[in-house]
Amino acid sequence: MLLRCAPRRLHLRPLSAAALASAAPAPPEAPTEWAEAPLASVRPATADASLYHVSLDLSAHGDLLASHAAAGQFLPFRLPAAPYPIFLAIASPPPSPSSSAAAAFDFLVKRLPGTPSARLCDLRPGDLVHVGASVVGRGFEVSRIAEARDVLVFATGSGISPIRSLIESDFVESHKTGVSLFYGVRNLQRMAYQVGYISLSLHFVLLYSIYNSW
Ligand SMILES: Cc1cc2nc3c(=O)[nH]c(=O)nc-3n(C[C@H](O)[C@H](O)[C@H](O)COP(=O)(O)OP(=O)(O)OC[C@H]3O[C@@H](n4cnc5c(N)ncnc54)[C@H](O)[C@@H]3O)c2cc1C
Repeated sequence: MLLRCAPRRLHLRPLSAAALASAAPAPPEAPTEWAEAPLASVRPATADASLYHVSLDLSAHGDLLASHAAAGQFLPFRLPAAPYPIFLAIASPPPSPSSSAAAAFDFLVKRLPGTPSARLCDLRPGDLVHVGASVVGRGFEVSRIAEARDVLVFATGSGISPIRSLIESDFVESHKTGVSLFYGVRNLQRMAYQVGYISLSLHFVLLYSIYNSW
C-alpha cells in the first residue's frame, strides 16, 4: 500500500550553534584494532545514486563475521585518505541456526560528497578497506519485546539499513503476523530495497511526499 502524505507545517525555533554542538550525539569511539578486507561489490542502491549498496568480503575474517550477534550493530570504516573513520550499520542479518552464514556484510551508504562515505562509494570491487576488527554496539534488544503481538517498525532514508538486518533475521519469522514496517523516503528515486520489500510477508507502508521532488 502506498500512502501519500502532504508535508505538515512545523514551527521550530532555530538552535544556536552552541546548542546544536552540545545536542549532537558524540560519534562512537574509533576501534584500536583494525582488519583489512576487500570490497565484494559497490553499486547504486537508488535511481538517483544518493545511496549505495556496499558489500564487504569477510571470507578471511571468521572472527569478525562471528562477532555480528544482533541486528542493529555497526562497523567502523577507515577509508583511503580519509581523515577520520565513519560508522556504518550492518544491513545483512546476523548468522542464525536457520540460515547458512554468508561470508560478507552488506551496507547501505548515503553518498555525501566530500566526506569519507563518498570515498567508499567511489571504490571498486577488490579494493581494500580498513574496518574495525569486530562489530560495535549491542544492536536491537529484541528479547525485550519477545512477547509483543503488534510490532511497529519505523525507518527513513538510509536508516532502513539496520532495519533490513532485523527484517531478514529470525525476528520477523517468529513474529509473522504482527510486524508492520513504516518506511519514509523523500521520493521513490531515493528508495532503496524496492524490489525486496514489496515481496515481504510483513505489513508494509511506504510514506513519501509528492511535494518533495528534489
Ligand atoms: C552508529 C552509526 C551508524 C551509522 N550507520 C550509517 C549507515 O548505515 N549508512 C550511512 O550512510 N551512514 C551511517 N552513519 C553515518 C556515517 O557514519 C557518517 O556520520 C556520515 O557518512 C556522515 O559523515 P561525515 O563525514 O559528514 O562526518 P560525521 O561523522 O557526521 O561528522 C561531522 C563532521 O565532524 C568532523 N569529524 C568527525 N569525526 C572527526 C574526526 N575523528 N576527526 C576530525 N574531524 C571529524 C568532520 O568535519 C565531519 O564532516 C552511521 C553513524 C553512526 C554513528
